[in-house]
Amino acid sequence: MIVMKFGGTSVQDSSAILHVASIAEQFGSEQLLIVSSACSGMTTDLLKLSADSVHISDEERSLRIDGIEDRHNSIARSLGIEKQVGVRIHELCDGLRKTCEGVALLGECTPRSSDAIASFGELLSTVIIQGLLQLHHTAIWYDAREIIKTDSAYRRAHVDFDLTQSKALEKLKPLFDSHRIIVTQGFIGSDSEGNTTTLGRGGSDFSAALLGAALHADDIIIWTDVSGIASADPRIIPEARFMETMSFDEARMLSYFGAKVLHPETIIPALSKNIPVHVRNTFKSEDKGTTITQHGDKDANGFRSVIGKHNVTCLNISGIPGKDYHTNTQELLHQITQLSGQQPLIHARVGESETYVYDAPLHNLSQCINKEHNLMNITLEEYSLISAIGPNLRSEHSSKAVGKFYETVLQADSRPVFISGIQPQTVSALVAPDCAIDILKALHHHCT
Ligand code: ADP
Ligand code: ASP
Ligand code: MG
Repeated sequence: MIVMKFGGTSVQDSSAILHVASIAEQFGSEQLLIVSSACSGMTTDLLKLSADSVHISDEERSLRIDGIEDRHNSIARSLGIEKQVGVRIHELCDGLRKTCEGVALLGECTPRSSDAIASFGELLSTVIIQGLLQLHHTAIWYDAREIIKTDSAYRRAHVDFDLTQSKALEKLKPLFDSHRIIVTQGFIGSDSEGNTTTLGRGGSDFSAALLGAALHADDIIIWTDVSGIASADPRIIPEARFMETMSFDEARMLSYFGAKVLHPETIIPALSKNIPVHVRNTFKSEDKGTTITQHGDKDANGFRSVIGKHNVTCLNISGIPGKDYHTNTQELLHQITQLSGQQPLIHARVGESETYVYDAPLHNLSQCINKEHNLMNITLEEYSLISAIGPNLRSEHSSKAVGKFYETVLQADSRPVFISGIQPQTVSALVAPDCAIDILKALHHHCT
């Protein structure tokens, strides 16, 4: 059995969805669990709709939801399956209307409502995919919320692995006795009360890996709009090279430090069951893509890829040691986590001076700091985080490449903050945002 995840661009319109159907065909009689994202841009539209429902007029709200219904109906029409899926699309959009009306009446969009509204993107796209596949295969639609069980940390819920595994084995596995294909949603789950939760933006990759691990799949394939994992984001560096193999550790670091191609949490479930993860191109299914395994290219030296994370904020705290300092620091960090939904990406401490790097723009963090924190000396600075990734950066054979990293960064930025040596696969620097792209391009020349 293979778990396949299709991203937003892979299901953005009827022509993309035809590629999905053709890929399902190419896998012959193999059992497939298809996990899909919402049509591209839909989650962003839905999140905006949920927040705006508090203040826009009833007419404006209806117009936007009609637009969402029209987009899905028109995809279904182009695929010739409007008869099969039209009613279901309408029912789902009615559910969306009611949920948004609730937000408007309440005059408040709670994180719970926001997750409920965001979930309609995946619910709708999967209805269309299953409708199309059902024409030629035994394909069934299944609600992922019955399987992926989480806590109630809306917008970025934490998954209960054990419960999710037992639900998957109990409910999904037997369906393969009578169906070759199961179509379900990425990104969404539910808490113990049955409320809809989401796993964070880009979370469909994680859903696929969770389900793959739970069902002991043979492979997990992430179908996207590029032919694998490249030595840099091909949108920024078009000459970036795609890698054939990669280790779980290297892929984990690459996604953690900003490669959008994989959600950072995707690797853990796959690694726990040692299931190969493949990243492949929906629109060029003949390309081999990248295969991520335990060993990957672990023996390579130097760095194989460079990646940038922009709009990160560095929070520095220093103060006079004592009870107030400690309490205030803890309070501040708690407040940041509550307001921005962020845990720090990096944390370093030297004596009573602490540095936290958050994957959030400066204005998000500055609103968390108030006068009560005035016992401390706090500074906030916006940076880009540039990282070079390789399997063995601590080996002596990599020292020349690591040296090049420092040299290249220092040539472009006079006061970078280097972060290295924590993980053997990465060396990073916080640099001024305006020179980040040039540094990435210069570093890319040194990729092996
Ligand atoms: P999907 O909608 O399929 O989940 P995403 O947009 O989330 O797709 O991820 C795919 C994108 O990731 C690519 O279009 C590419 O621009 C970006 N990306 C960033 N870094 C890399 C990298 N190192 N290799 C490949 N793609 C990358
Ligand atoms: N649809 C969700 C998002 O846009 C999840 C995903 O695409 O992985 O964030
Ligand atoms: Mg993605």
